[in-house]
Amino acid sequence: MTDQHESKPTDLFIIGGGINGCGIARDAAGRGLSVSLAEMGDLASATSSASTKLFHGGLRYLEYFEFRLVHEALAEREVLLRAMPHISWPMRFVLPYHPSMRFESETPTSKLLTLVMPWMKGRRPAWLIRLGLFMYDHLDFGRRKLLPGTSSLSLRGTPEGEPLDDRFEKAYEYSDCWVQDSRLVVLNARDAEARGAKIMTRTKALSAKREGDLWRVEVENTETGERSVHFARMLVNAGGPWVGEIIQTTVHLNVREGVRLVRGSHIVTRKLYDHDKCYFFQGTDGRIIFAIPYEEDFTLIGTTDAEHHDPDARPVCTPEEQQYLIDFANRYFKRDISAEDVVWTYSGVRPLYDDGASSATAATRDYTLKVEGGGAPLLNVFGGKITTYRRLAESALDKIAEQLGDVPDAWTAGVPLPGGDFPVNGGPRLVVSLRSAYPFLNEHWARRLVRTYGTEARALLGDAESAEALGRDFGATLTAAEVDWLMDREYARSAEDVLWRRTKLGLHFSEPQVAALQSYMQARGAGKTVDSSV
Ligand SMILES: Cc1cc2nc3c(=O)[nH]c(=O)nc-3n(C[C@H](O)[C@H](O)[C@H](O)COP(=O)(O)OP(=O)(O)OC[C@H]3O[C@@H](n4cnc5c(N)ncnc54)[C@H](O)[C@@H]3O)c2cc1C
Repeated sequence: MTDQHESKPTDLFIIGGGINGCGIARDAAGRGLSVSLAEMGDLASATSSASTKLFHGGLRYLEYFEFRLVHEALAEREVLLRAMPHISWPMRFVLPYHPSMRFESETPTSKLLTLVMPWMKGRRPAWLIRLGLFMYDHLDFGRRKLLPGTSSLSLRGTPEGEPLDDRFEKAYEYSDCWVQDSRLVVLNARDAEARGAKIMTRTKALSAKREGDLWRVEVENTETGERSVHFARMLVNAGGPWVGEIIQTTVHLNVREGVRLVRGSHIVTRKLYDHDKCYFFQGTDGRIIFAIPYEEDFTLIGTTDAEHHDPDARPVCTPEEQQYLIDFANRYFKRDISAEDVVWTYSGVRPLYDDGASSATAATRDYTLKVEGGGAPLLNVFGGKITTYRRLAESALDKIAEQLGDVPDAWTAGVPLPGGDFPVNGGPRLVVSLRSAYPFLNEHWARRLVRTYGTEARALLGDAESAEALGRDFGATLTAAEVDWLMDREYARSAEDVLWRRTKLGLHFSEPQVAALQSYMQARGAGKTVDSSV
């Protein structure tokens, strides 16, 4: 075992390479703190690659009176959009209205309405939706400059109405944003590393013990089995679904706060309609789901809320959840979909702060940060949204500063992530300039590179004058040059990392293509000579 006691202890040791761990690592490293981060799998291998991928205020949380969360998330959307215009972009959401729409009976709003207007019998009236959307437009207290506000729209004879059942005649339309969640995590990790953090993937924290005023953390490389020990002044538990397990079995503490694991699944079908807007569908059970244009050729539909009891049980979309989403969508779309239309499913576990709510849907989506003192301090992170990760990191740094003292001010608002140093809406121009510098790129390929790497696409392509110069073509425009970039700079180790987290090219890959990519990466990772030619 390597004992790193001789090396200087770091200020922070972070367990967990999801969005919260990597967001805190970046913020802390940028303030001059020394940081080590251990992720037992790939970055974003758990919840942070399985979200609905929205930077959103969370319209439905208004019904739960989650005003703090909605305000913070709404105000945050444009801060994030400006920092990463390559991996995030604005979206319009179409909310079809029909008088039969119902509340989830447990929301504070539905209880209040039932009390004062008992004849409504759990129905969600149009005026209430309009009120909610008015609040959604204004609850950011004027920070919305780029995203258009709410409007009404007729569904008769319009592209938005075309795929929907004829009983829907009118709709409301509002703004939120899309984000490629797993790329967000990797770019935060890269930026943290560029600012001095040590990012260790495939590294599991086995135990953490207090020794005097330091933490002694033992980790294991999950590929080689090699163990090492690290020392830090403060420990951050950003283990997502494992936050409770880390408290109990890694740190051995008795802590009152708990985590509630709520699984959410999505299905992906071939494209169900031609325009670029999303749908917000309200169900007869009071829940809502989204249907979102996905990866150009597909439609993403989700999500569900199901209790999940064991963080180690890999979340999968059950046949019941799949059918629930299909039935939900079929109440809206003219053309019925069936299980045969589903080309992919994915599932993730929300690590929610256990606030004792009656149902999984009602449990708070807000985050809670708790510091355990008594010698070297421990910070436990519960809950949180992709959308609020940067604010969560700032709050975490406030808590860290209280413990470690002398921490510089917040800095991440307005600082782009790698590749994001261009204006919002500047993507199309970047595609044009990339195609003129590299005429062998077609429109689709150039757009994919810009939406993945932003301004860094040029560094990836280097001085290539032809597609052949980028080396072996693994399929769907993935070349050896791109795979090498992902291995050398973005911590990718396996075909799955590349095909499902650094990109979503897995949607287009056949099994033999996956196998070819895997053996290339294995050989290259092991330092063997690989055939990277065409
Ligand atoms: C279905 C679904 C839809 C969602 N949609 C949205 C959305 O549209 N917008 C939004 O803003 N939010 C959304 N969220 C919420 C958001 O995805 C999560 O809040 C967020 O990803 C949680 O990040 P995290 O870093 O806390 O957890 P994770 O991403 O799970 O990261 C924790 C990491 O810790 C690692 N780890 C655990 N134990 C150890 C150990 N002992 N050693 C080393 N590493 C360890 C794990 O491998 C894991 O990678 C959604 C969540 C779900 C499930």
